[in-house]
Amino acid sequence: MEVYRGIPVYPGVVIGPALLLDTEGYLIPQRSITASEVVDEFERLKVGIRDAAIEVRSNQAIIATKVGTQYGAILGAHAQMIEDPFLLGEIESLISKKFFTAEYALSLVMRKHIKEIQSLPDARMASRATDLFDIEKQILGKLIGQRKEGINSLNEPVVILAHDLSPSETAKLNTKLVHAFATEAGGRTSHTSILAGALEIPAVVGLGKFISEVTGGDIVIVDGNAGLLIIDPDAETLRRYQKTQTDIVSLDASLESLRDLPAITQDGVEIKLLGNIEFPHETKHCLDKGAQGIGLYRTEFLFMGKDAVPTEDEQFEAYKEVVQAMGKDRPVVIRTLDLGGDKLAAYSNLHIPEKNPFLGLRSIRLCLRNIGLFKTQLRAILRASVYGNIQLLFPMISTVLELRQAKMIVSEVKEDLFDEKVPFNKDIPIGTMIEVPSAAILSELMAKEVSFFSIGTNDLVQYTLAADRSNEDVASLYNPGDPAVLRLIEMVVKSAKHSNVALNVCGEMSGDLIYTMLFLGLGIRQLSVSPHSIPEIKQFIRMVNLKDAENVAKEAMRQQTARDVNNYLREQTRKLLPDSLMY
Ligand code: PEP
Ligand code: MG
Repeated sequence: MEVYRGIPVYPGVVIGPALLLDTEGYLIPQRSITASEVVDEFERLKVGIRDAAIEVRSNQAIIATKVGTQYGAILGAHAQMIEDPFLLGEIESLISKKFFTAEYALSLVMRKHIKEIQSLPDARMASRATDLFDIEKQILGKLIGQRKEGINSLNEPVVILAHDLSPSETAKLNTKLVHAFATEAGGRTSHTSILAGALEIPAVVGLGKFISEVTGGDIVIVDGNAGLLIIDPDAETLRRYQKTQTDIVSLDASLESLRDLPAITQDGVEIKLLGNIEFPHETKHCLDKGAQGIGLYRTEFLFMGKDAVPTEDEQFEAYKEVVQAMGKDRPVVIRTLDLGGDKLAAYSNLHIPEKNPFLGLRSIRLCLRNIGLFKTQLRAILRASVYGNIQLLFPMISTVLELRQAKMIVSEVKEDLFDEKVPFNKDIPIGTMIEVPSAAILSELMAKEVSFFSIGTNDLVQYTLAADRSNEDVASLYNPGDPAVLRLIEMVVKSAKHSNVALNVCGEMSGDLIYTMLFLGLGIRQLSVSPHSIPEIKQFIRMVNLKDAENVAKEAMRQQTARDVNNYLREQTRKLLPDSLMY
């Protein structure tokens, strides 16, 4: 049994067979054969090895002609390794002694060698392990051949294990069969992690290297509460986790009774709890969990899953679906396109490769460069605004001028719709995300331009601390409890209050129980969170006394490091809610 610790991004426990995405890209459902099949399996293995070597040698010839013989020689060495009789002997021995399939035996042998190479002290030598991954992939590809099954043709429930998953790969996962995922890379608020919430599957990211320790079909446990991946669990661990699964089901059931109750503090102050969504169908999840509206609809996900930019009508239908599902009165905050950074559209004409995509032409900047694209989206949102209580939100605003430009485009679109006699809500509230430090620092000025603010802590933390939100290597720096972040939030609260501008917090921090008292104590009265967090946050708010929360916030603001802030807040939270699974 091997236990890896990572960053929990969606709670819950799943026990199931692993599907490795990086090296295999497809499922190996069968791990063993019968004694009578051994000879046939040997034959399959030999054919697979022969075909892989032929393909690699033909690639060698192409590279040698195009680039030079010395480069082709790299693949020549791969072909030699593929044909190595010692490798064949090792795999055959596992097939005949343990009755493993050729694929499973190959994976076990290659993973053993990969591990040996990775443990070499010389980093350059250790990096040669990628050659072995490549070789494994080549032979596996041939072996699986016609029974190659893509991730879209799964036929049994699996746990996806990968080095990394892009947000668009994650968005496409079929959650009927993919019950959890765990990745070596990734940070707590990367968009891949956020999608785990949209898909409602337990997930752990940033686990560090584990791929070479696991083989497709191994039983694994993903513990999305503690952030653990357990490979080949022993009987005792399995029993313990089966019990945890039952406990989680009964905890969810006990929180269900809160659905229709208000999130009101002990001293009678009501807090609005809204849901963050990426897809229209999530409105149901929000309503089931008791959301009072949609505080953040990340519309870019409508653009990411498609081969071409969605038309105005396609967008209109999606926005209308959301607003109609939420009813006439519940607010639905639709954020305009926030593509870029790690959220790339499938079609490439919108993105030029950038050295620093998170600091580049993303989000509102991309929209202001592609006015046609922006106007199409605004038309669709405005047309949908007659069906309910839609509010318009701009992402990534970093200067006052940018905000004014975005508003100007809205006015132009309104004029066009008016001329065309197309109905829309002419008083649609306009707000801005505060997720870039410059916007927080200038929030006093920004407040004069809009009717509401939504603090996006995911990006605010990333840009304040200069720590990539999706990079596990800087995960310890990327900390929402950092005093610099808290000071910026406090500044925004003051500006909003001073100018009577509504204020919402919608980054992942808003759904993290340890920050709830801080937010309430600072004066924040609206939180938009992943829908699954609503019941527990509500339960907690109903236990809090606002006066106590104000004192907690004061004390938290006095701390000097993120660690001190978090320890203090965790301790205060535990006093009220000792048994929570959420922190
Ligand atoms: C944020 O940055 O906090 C936010 C809510 O937006 P996103 O996570 O989509 O970047
Ligand atoms: Mg953001």
